[in-house]
Amino acid sequence: MNSKKIGFNTICTHVGEIDDKQFKGAISPIYLSTSYAFENVDIKRYPRYFNTPNQEALCKKIAALEKGEASLIFGSGMAAISTALFAFLAKGDHIVLQRTLYGGTANLVNEEFEKHGIEYSYVDSQAVDGFEQKIKPNTKIIYIETPSNPLLTITDIKAIADLAKQKNIITMIDNTFASPVNQNPIELGIDIVIHSATKYLGGHSDILAGAVISSEELIKRIFQVAKNFGGSLSDFTVWMLERSIKTLGIRVKRQNKNAMKLAKWLHKNDDIAAVYYPGLKSHPDHELAKKQMKGFGGMLSFELKKGLDASKFQKELKLIKSSMSLAGVESTILSPTLTSHALLSEEERDLQGIKNGLLRFSVGIEETSDLKSDIRQALEKIKVLQLEH
Ligand SMILES: *Cc1c(COP(=O)(O)O)cnc(C)c1O
Repeated sequence: MNSKKIGFNTICTHVGEIDDKQFKGAISPIYLSTSYAFENVDIKRYPRYFNTPNQEALCKKIAALEKGEASLIFGSGMAAISTALFAFLAKGDHIVLQRTLYGGTANLVNEEFEKHGIEYSYVDSQAVDGFEQKIKPNTKIIYIETPSNPLLTITDIKAIADLAKQKNIITMIDNTFASPVNQNPIELGIDIVIHSATKYLGGHSDILAGAVISSEELIKRIFQVAKNFGGSLSDFTVWMLERSIKTLGIRVKRQNKNAMKLAKWLHKNDDIAAVYYPGLKSHPDHELAKKQMKGFGGMLSFELKKGLDASKFQKELKLIKSSMSLAGVESTILSPTLTSHALLSEEERDLQGIKNGLLRFSVGIEETSDLKSDIRQALEKIKVLQLEH
């Protein structure tokens, strides 16, 4: 099947599927062997070599979703990110990174790079000249994440890719928040796309996995490091992930729609001080988001009006659960100050615009009427509590 000629949902359901020749079953059989007879000296199948039948099948699907030539899947998003970074960075090299990164990625850089002699610079604004200013003769990678966590800022993907190409620098993007449904950075000139497949690709809060998508050439280089680091994904989870991705398109489109409805509704609500969603006209990067995204995603953040306690509000929610993770079919909410960004000082959080009352909302596929009712009743409860004080 030529994946260039077929539509997104057909890629989701069919590309890479393993034909069950023995029983003609409807879905890919699962091969759990860790030991395979040599086909020839070149092909030694072994799970840590990323080449079992199920791994190879799923990699075809994920590469097709992101319009890349090849992909590798990993045991976690962080395994994907660390392996991809260390594949291109050595002692004496330099990397330019966006400041507003996923917390785990920031920890990797801040805790591991110095001892390996890797230099790094953060860019505080999303503007392209900010990145350009940080480039040095030994810069090997520019690393971005858009939309970012938790304020959903947007970085100009094509402008970054163009800048890096001029200077012969490799570009990497963490595309987790957008998912391949809403944004395909390779089409905009990015070299390497990374996903925490734990999020939208998995989508049911029951899989930990990661993926890297790129050209054949760069994937080969990443593989050379990946087989040494050993972060491959178990074939059972590979098979689960294949199953999850079949519904990726319809899940995420529904999440886009729900998030847009809720963002508009929250924006009009008198108890809400601010809403951060790239689909809103009031979002400072709305025009850029419209240009580079196919949908605005299922993630949004908001702040309650001054005087309304965000943690009490969170506790009063019944349908929307508090959760560290995101992107499942169920709606979840968290306070970045108390969780994902708790390790940062208040000053560092201020620098990123993260206020104490901020709540990050991962919108699920439920009926928006039920989500609104839940938010409404929680707001009423905390307003009563406040009056009693
Ligand atoms: C969750 C997440 C990661 C890390 O993925 P794990 O699967 O938890 O290792 C990386 N980037 C983003 C944007 C994430 O949300």
